[in-house]
Amino acid sequence: MVGGEYTADWVERQCLVLELECGKLSGRTSDWRCVFEPYGHEFLSQEAIREALKDLPPKLQWIRRFLEDANTPTVYRDLEDVWNGGQWNKEGQKNHFMRYATDSELTAYEDACTWIFKNGFIAAQHLRDIWQKKLGYYNPIYVTGPLGDAMHALQDSFSAAHVKRVKRDDVWVIEGIYVYNDANKKASGTYPGHEALDKQWKGTELGNEAITACRELIRIVIHTSLLAIDATVPNKWQSLWDTFSGLFLSCGIKEGVPVGK
Ligand SMILES: [Zn+2]
Repeated sequence: MVGGEYTADWVERQCLVLELECGKLSGRTSDWRCVFEPYGHEFLSQEAIREALKDLPPKLQWIRRFLEDANTPTVYRDLEDVWNGGQWNKEGQKNHFMRYATDSELTAYEDACTWIFKNGFIAAQHLRDIWQKKLGYYNPIYVTGPLGDAMHALQDSFSAAHVKRVKRDDVWVIEGIYVYNDANKKASGTYPGHEALDKQWKGTELGNEAITACRELIRIVIHTSLLAIDATVPNKWQSLWDTFSGLFLSCGIKEGVPVGK
């Protein structure tokens, strides 16, 4: 242990790694956080993918193969960030639309949005590559890897354990980003705790909005990947992103007024 400090985060991480490894070895399914929760990330992704791919014309049916399992990498982000410590370290907070304790609300917001923007764009460029170079034999993870990372963070932004959103004129405006600390994790009073909130997506208003947001993200990825002229790709992605983020990642953060739990 660097520096000799056995912090609470470090202990938690060791316990989870052990639990996941033992579960894997013994064939048991672990019950950790939202990872294996059927109404968590898996549910949101499957609904969004189904809706986004529903009406593809016959000539574009090939896209299915490269997007229909975006669910797996979306779910896997939580596991990967247990192995590599991303659930707790500064670098990993953007992956889950959360804030490191020493970061400002606005920095956390910008880091998380940039993460979604970049990964969405990589997914679009990779799908475009497959289309233009006829790489039908490629492993779909080439597209679903970055898309899953973008979708995971986007979905987490619709969890009340990660982000404070307030509905104004049909838009769920982001007003604060929480820190993954003891108060955030544990239930107290009317607050059900982080884990419970990550399971409240099926049939809830925020859950439905998360599905719509992911569906639209998939659609702008497909749209960008199929543009006729290469030179227009970066600007088109930026333009579609601006509209997308105005609808689903609208920022109402007032700097200097943290909403830390
Ligand atoms: Zn997460």
